[in-house]
Amino acid sequence: MNALEINDLHINIAEKPIVKGLTLTVRKGEVHAIMGPNGTGKSTLAKAIAGHPDYEITSGSVLLDGRNILEMEPDERARAGLFLAFQYPCEIPGVSIANFLRAASQARLPEGEEIDATAYYKRLYSKMDALKIDRKFTARSVNEGFSGGEKKRCEILQMAMLEPSYAVMDETDSGLDIDALKIVAEGVNALRGPKLGVLLITHYQRLLDYIVPDFVHVMWDGRIVKSGDKSLALELEAKGYDWVKAEFAATTAAAK
Ligand code: ADP
Ligand code: MG
Repeated sequence: MNALEINDLHINIAEKPIVKGLTLTVRKGEVHAIMGPNGTGKSTLAKAIAGHPDYEITSGSVLLDGRNILEMEPDERARAGLFLAFQYPCEIPGVSIANFLRAASQARLPEGEEIDATAYYKRLYSKMDALKIDRKFTARSVNEGFSGGEKKRCEILQMAMLEPSYAVMDETDSGLDIDALKIVAEGVNALRGPKLGVLLITHYQRLLDYIVPDFVHVMWDGRIVKSGDKSLALELEAKGYDWVKAEFAATTAAAK
């Protein structure tokens, strides 16, 4: 199937179960939002999908267009079409964005094939124009001294250049000001389309005012406990999470 399929996934951190049987399918062309209170395992899910070594997958599967990515190294996952965006990206002093993106694009080519510099810059500038990013931006070192908004702009540009099939974006917690949120939203909306599936993780409904998701899922205690459309996000904003927990507790009790 043309999808990112997460099936009954269980993830431990230091032998403690954090994600406890999470199932979710993101098809190409769809934008899914995962919301949920702090500490429910949203970032753990994103990091485990990326292949972070501290996160132990004890059972379940993650398939990308039918391929098991859990057996792949993080760079292979990226080549297979997965892109992960994190809230706190690292700084790479001395490496310009242009060179960083060029190296990333080069890494995607088959062994022995050289990137064509003219074509690369042409593509870079056309993506930057589409995203309304100033050309001077690419001369700066990756994330060094960047504002929150500039980090997001850098991340969106990476995503535009790498043209992933699926993007998992962990924009949770505080720290993103409204300008940064708008940059993420404009970027995702510009890149949205039939060739991209997006899994957007967020703690706040506010981001979903700008990126209107096709599906909204509530995560609680390591599981998805409720799914719906964009109206669910508004309901959560108005009523909080407690009613979802109560509803879930009632249905699991009834099932026993
Ligand atoms: P969320 O993103 O939903 O706020 P997290 O995935 O960050 O939640 O965290 C889920 C749980 O896992 C929390 O109880 C947190 O304390 C724990 N946790 C997350 N990362 C680590 C880590 N590196 N070491 C130990 N515990 C962690
Ligand atoms: Mg988090």
